[in-house]
Amino acid sequence: MKINEHRCPANHPCPAVRVCPVKAISQKGFGLPSINNDVCINCGKCIKFCPMRAISA
Ligand code: SF4
Repeated sequence: MKINEHRCPANHPCPAVRVCPVKAISQKGFGLPSINNDVCINCGKCIKFCPMRAISA
């Protein structure tokens, strides 16, 4: 998974952090979240969840 920095406003707590079942998404402050692809199981929940459509495979 990857996060499109042009779509993510990076100005709020990322709600997708909470939907990831394996805690692969992390965020420092309100900054651009990052996805640990070593942990990600490609479930796709974050892609469907992000209202900004900032996350893609
Ligand atoms: S695809 Fe699933 S496991 Fe991977 S980062 Fe998104 S929510 Fe987490």
